[in-house]
Amino acid sequence: MENIVSFSQLLEYSNQHDKRIYQVMQGLEAYMLEKNEDQVRNLTLRNLKTMKSSIEKGLSVSSLSPSGMSGLDAHKLLKRYENSSNLPFNGLLGRIMTYSVAISEENQRMGKIVACPTAGSCGIVPAVIVSYGQEYGFSEEQQVNALITAGATGKIIAQQMHLAGAVAGCQAECGVASAMAASAAVELMRGTNDQIVHAAILALKNVMGLVCDPVAGLVEVPCIKRNGFMAVHAVSASEMALAGVQSVVPPDEVVQAVKQVGVLMSPMLKESSEAGLAATESAKTITREFFKF
Ligand code: SF4
Repeated sequence: MENIVSFSQLLEYSNQHDKRIYQVMQGLEAYMLEKNEDQVRNLTLRNLKTMKSSIEKGLSVSSLSPSGMSGLDAHKLLKRYENSSNLPFNGLLGRIMTYSVAISEENQRMGKIVACPTAGSCGIVPAVIVSYGQEYGFSEEQQVNALITAGATGKIIAQQMHLAGAVAGCQAECGVASAMAASAAVELMRGTNDQIVHAAILALKNVMGLVCDPVAGLVEVPCIKRNGFMAVHAVSASEMALAGVQSVVPPDEVVQAVKQVGVLMSPMLKESSEAGLAATESAKTITREFFKF
């Protein structure tokens, strides 16, 4: 088996062999890691369980971060959506947003999370997969299929561009995480391989240009709330794809465009905290107070 480095190759191989994307990717991972497919699935299950633990932990703790900028938002969301009805985000979307913020806050507390693809964007994929699992009763096996599908999306994109805010802005972190989550949602809803890829690419291209400008250089503002937004964004992309909406620009060309935007983006907007939100007067005050200078 040869490596698969593009969405077009992934679709061609999957469709030619009449396999779903997760089946192709677990076979490829087994080959690359010199393991069998059961071992790959067990490793994925272990990550899924860690993701679930980080949601539980994130929801059980509510305390301000050392900088004072974050830490209480998951609980605010939890309170809004428990025992209430007739809210626009009641049910699935409210849960997804809450879980995503909870995991992200847990990351900020230095708790155990799964970087997917990065620590800064760690809430998005788990929030979508676990929430769908709870809402629709998907088995652990189906959730593992979804997580491998998300991994396939991340792996294909990562082979074409760097997934780091310092290299390509937040489009490469929360944007790619949203793409991964969108593809996972389509797998869970039994969409086609084409729909899985188009969901990912619709999510990604609609956050093209998203900069990385963390206040005080900490992965808190805007990162934590952004995880909440991008998880819901993933659902929008998956629903569009499941309805048959496709990206006019082919998936691999979209990835190249996102990569190009990352190259063109000013270094001041790539995690250096020299511009954007990080350069506001309030951000400078927070930075001075936190680092005591
Ligand atoms: S803003 Fe920067 S640090 Fe925060 S999640 Fe996005 S890429 Fe990561």
